[in-house]
Amino acid sequence: MNHPTTDLDLLSINQATTKIQWTLKEAINGYQAQGIHGISVWRDKLAEYGVEQASHHLINANMTVTGLCRGGMFTASTPKLRQVSIDETLTAVDEAAAINAQCLVIVAGGLADGSKNIVQAREQITEALLKVLPYARSANIPIAIEPLHPMYAADRSCINTMEQANDLCDLLGRGVGIAVDVYHVWWDPKLEEQIKRAGKERILGFHICDWRVPTRELLLDRAMMGDGVIDIAGIHKMVRDAGYTGYSEVEIFSNEWWNKPAFDVVSTCKERYLEMMRKA
Ligand code: ZN
Repeated sequence: MNHPTTDLDLLSINQATTKIQWTLKEAINGYQAQGIHGISVWRDKLAEYGVEQASHHLINANMTVTGLCRGGMFTASTPKLRQVSIDETLTAVDEAAAINAQCLVIVAGGLADGSKNIVQAREQITEALLKVLPYARSANIPIAIEPLHPMYAADRSCINTMEQANDLCDLLGRGVGIAVDVYHVWWDPKLEEQIKRAGKERILGFHICDWRVPTRELLLDRAMMGDGVIDIAGIHKMVRDAGYTGYSEVEIFSNEWWNKPAFDVVSTCKERYLEMMRKA
């Protein structure tokens, strides 16, 4: 990267933060216009723009792609359906390689339809990752397992703690790591020790936003950094101390912020991020 060094050098914005307001093209331009050089891309937006066009634009805009969202959702009631999610994830690996993403983020999947067997769901996730990994390794795309808050165990991911994600990484070996999202892991009593355990090699991303009290909606009520109760600077220090040198990626799914002009959302992200860094 040959952009000048600024305090914003390690700030990335996950385009979900402005997903209602901006296309991928607009997001690249909009983030760049405010001096931001990191972006995490969503597959639906990428498809809409076209992989090749997006790839050129990202290069020309000097954007570091901190992640592609997402692969996974591996749990399903039949082998055929499970294979569909594996095939989709392999395609996502190709797309991640095409846009030079630092990792492919995996949301593992919750309970299979009609199932109450969470142990089996976790086995299906392991099996699927074992099938995806050789291809991801050959494409040089690190697979980032993102543990999700346990409130999503039924419908999104039954990998819910850093410890589970670390155990899974131990089992799977090379080419797989963890996306640490403060929204999902801030409450975990073992957070610091498990971040340490993950270490430099395994921490592939650091996602930030805040936890509103009270949270009014399970999925779309994430708060802007500083508007909630997460010690973001504290967790940021934990990942740094563990050796992580990468970006902080703002990822806010919020009906409230999606209703504001994207330019203002991005400038607020910047302000709050810089505030957080001052506290660090
Ligand atoms: Zn995240």
